[in-house]
Amino acid sequence: MSIFGKRNNVITYTVNKAVNKDIYITVQNGEVVVNAPWYFTSNKIQSLVQEKKNWILSKIEEYEKQVSPNIQSVKIFGKNYDVKVLYENIKTPELNLEENYQIKIILPLKYKKVGNEQILKMCIDKMYEQIANTEIDNIMEKIRLMLGIAPEEYSIKKLESNELAKCVAGKIIYINPELMKYKREIIEYVVAHEFCHLKYKTHCKSFYEMLETNFAEYKKYEKEIEGYEY
Ligand SMILES: [Zn+2]
Repeated sequence: MSIFGKRNNVITYTVNKAVNKDIYITVQNGEVVVNAPWYFTSNKIQSLVQEKKNWILSKIEEYEKQVSPNIQSVKIFGKNYDVKVLYENIKTPELNLEENYQIKIILPLKYKKVGNEQILKMCIDKMYEQIANTEIDNIMEKIRLMLGIAPEEYSIKKLESNELAKCVAGKIIYINPELMKYKREIIEYVVAHEFCHLKYKTHCKSFYEMLETNFAEYKKYEKEIEGYEY
């Protein structure tokens, strides 16, 4: 599934054709430079890069592991996805959900120098938002049919970092996109929980009676999202 676009596995490199007598490749700070005699054609250079592809990719990967130790995996619907970061000569970041539970994020080259932590977080936030956008209507409809009530309005909105969802003024429900980290049954539970807040402001006895009918195992779910507000 492609979220910000699709790319193929191409090595980008710069060619340095000054006064070299030999051809050689360096990979420094994740950047590939081909040093070649002036008379070498770009075809010849390209074929050398191709020949050394595995070595170059392993060097790049080594560097990337070292610069992005912070975000190594994220959860979507309760499943762990490994985050792989690449740098290319592009203007805006791209993010792809790959097979085998991998997320590939491609960043513009400048983030190698300025650090990638913030931009990675932004990419991942945006990913949760897009997933929430495609999933939330169905979940809302399922819970509406289950409980026979509905909010006047609902939307996906970035909330405080400890808030998964909230019900405002007994009629509007906000869903934090980060809720998409959790298993579907937990997402449904949190949404249903907010629906019950349409009727009961507090977590009173009747509030839980209303939930328990459809979520007999709600205590188990609440344990998994302990510490969050909703
Ligand atoms: Zn609540």
